[in-house]
Amino acid sequence: QDVVNKIAAGEIIVAPVHALKELIENAVDAGSTSLEVMIKEGGLKLLQITDNGHGIDKEDLHILCERFTTSKLKAFEDLSSIGTYGFRGEALASISHIAHLSVTTRTKESSCAWRALYADGKLASPKPGQTAEPKPIAGRPGTQITVEDLFYNVPSRRRAFRSASEEYAKILDQVGRYAVHCSGVSFSCRKHGDAAGSGISVAATANTVDRIRQIHGSAVANELVKLKAENERWGFKCEGWVSNANYNAKRTTLLLFINHRSVEASAIKKALEQTYTNFLPKGGHPFLYLSLEIEPQRVDVNVHPTKREVHFLNEDEIVAIVCDEIRDTLSKVDT
Ligand code: ADP
Ligand code: MG
Repeated sequence: QDVVNKIAAGEIIVAPVHALKELIENAVDAGSTSLEVMIKEGGLKLLQITDNGHGIDKEDLHILCERFTTSKLKAFEDLSSIGTYGFRGEALASISHIAHLSVTTRTKESSCAWRALYADGKLASPKPGQTAEPKPIAGRPGTQITVEDLFYNVPSRRRAFRSASEEYAKILDQVGRYAVHCSGVSFSCRKHGDAAGSGISVAATANTVDRIRQIHGSAVANELVKLKAENERWGFKCEGWVSNANYNAKRTTLLLFINHRSVEASAIKKALEQTYTNFLPKGGHPFLYLSLEIEPQRVDVNVHPTKREVHFLNEDEIVAIVCDEIRDTLSKVDT
């Protein structure tokens, strides 16, 4: 059973950035307004994320890393919205099977923080002979999740990593995506030992364009136009900021969120690039930040976790509407 769990976990989490993405989403779901990430060796040695969200009740700590433990399904019907957030209650469980996981958390109501270690889905004791029960310690409200020695027990996976800096670059990219999407949250992400302020370090702002400026620079931020599209028939809304014809990059940057989850979608990316060909000189590429909200029951619930691409009903129709809107918007701006 443990081997099965380990293999399953290793499929959901293939690289440090996948674990981190889950942890960021949890922190955002907990209503955090501040999120700090610390990395060692591209996340393989250490991934640590500290938030100031609502914390976890002490009573919930013993089941925290059991599979399908989630506080996010209020009723059974909510299962239909499973697609919104992908697999439910699997992230922490998976991580506990392939890394050393510790959690320090404090709710507003609690007079102290609680620290718990996990191994293979269960509470673990720090040393043989010691209790595995959570320990009270001093700490601020919020949660700190520490993931150490990722894949320590999956040597084949561990060997697959070529360079820590490559993994770190992926981590910065993913943190940057959530930083754009959650502009009201302050974000930091840096390597252990680097000076505060290196990597990503952005204060909360009420303004998405400001946040894009913080992360991607003024050259693109100065050339953004607001995009809005919606359609009742296909059950979607789309908002975002896209570059106009003055901005022209060597590669496309697409920050795509579906129901507030950062996702990849190569078909959508292609269609969006295509839309720009009439506006940009040959070989030119745009920047797009798009937040798509789709009725949860329309998002494919059956996509295997190893497939990071998302699919939804009437994808072609929805993408066509968004592309039309981009064309419309671009043809109206004076550049
Ligand atoms: P899911 O996010 O699908 O519910 P996870 O395994 O990612 O599953 O997390 C399990 C549960 O742990 C969450 O439902 C939530 O109640 C709690 N949790 C995890 N991370 C945090 C956090 N940073 N702050 C507060 N609660 C958290
Ligand atoms: Mg989660």
